[in-house]
Amino acid sequence: MNHFRHTTLRLLLAGLALTAPLAGHAQQKPAKATKTSKAGSGLAVIKEADLKRDLFALADDKYRGREGGTLDELRASAWLAEQIRATGMEPAGDDGTYFQWFNLQRTRLTKTSTLRIGTRQLRPNHDAMVVAPTNASVNAPLVFVGLATPAELAKVDLKGKAVALQVSGAPTDGISYRRYLFGKLRDQAAELFKAGAVAVVFVSDDKAQAIYDHWSHIYERGRYGLPGDANTAVVNQPPVVWLPAEALSWAKQAGQQFSAELKVESFAYPSVNIVAKMPGTDVQLKNEYVLFSTHQDHDGARAPVAGDSIYNGADDNATGCAALLALMRAYKQEPARRSALFVFHGAEERGLLGSRYFSDKPTVPKESIVAVLNAEMMGRNAADSAALLGSTPPHLNSSDLVKTALAANQEGPKFKLDTEWDKATHPEGWYFRSDHLPYARLGIPAIMYTSLLHADYHTPKDEASRIDYGKLLRMTQWMYRTGWAVSNRTAPPAREPGFKLER
Ligand SMILES: [Zn+2]
Repeated sequence: MNHFRHTTLRLLLAGLALTAPLAGHAQQKPAKATKTSKAGSGLAVIKEADLKRDLFALADDKYRGREGGTLDELRASAWLAEQIRATGMEPAGDDGTYFQWFNLQRTRLTKTSTLRIGTRQLRPNHDAMVVAPTNASVNAPLVFVGLATPAELAKVDLKGKAVALQVSGAPTDGISYRRYLFGKLRDQAAELFKAGAVAVVFVSDDKAQAIYDHWSHIYERGRYGLPGDANTAVVNQPPVVWLPAEALSWAKQAGQQFSAELKVESFAYPSVNIVAKMPGTDVQLKNEYVLFSTHQDHDGARAPVAGDSIYNGADDNATGCAALLALMRAYKQEPARRSALFVFHGAEERGLLGSRYFSDKPTVPKESIVAVLNAEMMGRNAADSAALLGSTPPHLNSSDLVKTALAANQEGPKFKLDTEWDKATHPEGWYFRSDHLPYARLGIPAIMYTSLLHADYHTPKDEASRIDYGKLLRMTQWMYRTGWAVSNRTAPPAREPGFKLER
């Protein structure tokens, strides 16, 4: 229903835009490419061999997975800046450099924190995960309540107790088990605290153990945000502890004491956005920017899988970085009427931090950014399939931009486009998980090019050797054709009236 109403308004507005060009644009020649039918000569310099070379370099083990806020991310960023300089793009970061520095806030348990159950000394976030970093001093009797069914809970007085229970259940609403589990750890603990518990200790079942094995390292790292974010505030809450399945035999023993002395530390340290531009050729339109977006960070070195602990992030998101370098060479070959702005966002994996920062404090005027084309994971899955996120209401914030991108797909790669993953009902919430989002929230027309999720996502198996380079080439060409059309048309992409995300 909303969709139809918006479409009507958009058609009206599009009509207005045609008959009443913006003041200052009125004297311009018509766009070189009035439709998307003619890509610029830059298309020919986008080469599969370049994409492959750049991707292998950036996803190499020597950058140790480019974790946001580490020297590895900074070293990779310095390498990228060198490549960018070689393409001939101008610096567009702070103070005439390619860099825009910003601070991450990180909040985690101190190394001096202690945890004990009965006679067992447990190293926090090694032997036992502390699910939320918190200051806490607890010394209480531990009661085991099995699966914490109403019948089991009715038998015990939870007041003043540390409550141990087994993780149970499975999602019934289509979300992944991992998301279900993290929600359960949070929500079930909250219920038990309401009932008077002073600490909650979850013990994994077999299913939860699989998630524990792969994901529990996130707790040692703590929480990340931008300074002032609520999720990195230092809090004093009852502790929630998560144990491996093997702990069941001793955690359920009666008559044990639970004690925790947890301390939180919170500190800031730098990450970086890398920003470059190719000035436009039109005396007026050069003051407007088409922003090509990606992120250079990934997950660093963490839990080994088959002996490999480096999460190279080849698809996620060295594909996007290699694509942007190729787009720069194309824009150098032939600049467009509008300026092209290229932003490699830092610390995306830590919560879209670089894009939140840049969209809040852009190095060009915010109103001059007419569209954001975001490259996120573009080199896996079937060779002829891809997705354009931001193309389905309520994520659609510019039908005009999406129409241009779809036409570019028809002229170029002709991907079969998935339409499921952009739906508000899709359990993965893919739209909310990349760098176009903060721009869309500002109302800037924004889309994401992606080849979607795969089994190697956020594992050490996301390696350069597993990328489909022919596909990456076609994805990059698709972005180029879209960007070229948007860069050369006279009116900027129309914005969807009444755009409102579902969350
Ligand atoms: Zn990722």
